Amino acid sequence: MAAAATQTVGSETIAYCTSCKMDLNHVIVALKGDRIAKVQCLTCKKEHAFKAAKGQTTPKAKKKKKADAEAEAEIHSIEAEWEKLMAAHRELPIKQYSMKGQFILGDKINHPTFGEGIVGKLIYPNKLEVIFRHDVKVLIHGGAQS
Ligand SMILES: [Zn+2]
Repeated sequence: MAAAATQTVGSETIAYCTSCKMDLNHVIVALKGDRIAKVQCLTCKKEHAFKAAKGQTTPKAKKKKKADAEAEAEIHSIEAEWEKLMAAHRELPIKQYSMKGQFILGDKINHPTFGEGIVGKLIYPNKLEVIFRHDVKVLIHGGAQS
């Protein structure tokens, strides 16, 4: 490979693109002495300071802790489910939750701590699985009966 002589404004060079996050062909836009100062990415057309190729030819995976992503996905799915259920049961009156109350599947309840929720599951003999906006909780009901 020819040395610094080929590094002239307008010639191509492999550099690390700060936008594409990978090594790509760039056009030299500005030189500082015999060093490349500024380049334009041929892929995203952005001009940025020259960064030497990093030997990276695929985009960097977004750094996100797996657990975080999973927790987030779970919250989103609960919230989506909750919204769907609340919309589906829009006409239902809200029942105030009480341990002594009797609830059935699909009841819309209001809990003093968790807010509004929908009974998603009945757990024999006296428990309810209730889908609240941010969490699914198991509550006791039918206290008078058991
Ligand atoms: Zn780019």
